[in-house]
Amino acid sequence: MDNGISSGAPHCCNCGQLFKRNPRLGDRPQRYCENDACQKARRAAWHQQRYATSVPFREAVKKRVRIGRRAQGAANEDDEPAGESGPEPAPVILQLQAQLQEMGLLFTGMASHNTGIVDGVALAICLERYAERGRRLQQKQA
Ligand SMILES: [Zn+2]
Repeated sequence: MDNGISSGAPHCCNCGQLFKRNPRLGDRPQRYCENDACQKARRAAWHQQRYATSVPFREAVKKRVRIGRRAQGAANEDDEPAGESGPEPAPVILQLQAQLQEMGLLFTGMASHNTGIVDGVALAICLERYAERGRRLQQKQA
């Protein structure tokens, strides 16, 4: 599979550093170095990809999130839409969702344009790195 990264000495998708392949992976592709942050990014990208492509996985994640919210206490219950089989979201919510999706497309396109990456997973990581950078900047300002 060609993901734009030449075999031989690969560059990490996350930090961009050259890294040595883990021999235990055999022929399987390896796109991340062994750094904790990069492994974390790899898992995040896997999660994101899986979430986007697998309905059962997505449902399981949503369920976990709901359970997590409930565990946080009933105080937040007012913020939640009315349950699993509740009514359709309000038009304003649908509009916001559409706008968010549009923004996501915008960012994805920008990231792809700026980096030359066309691989979906690598792009997802790239976007996560942008978000990470944004969070760091925000923390500095606070
Ligand atoms: Zn790395």
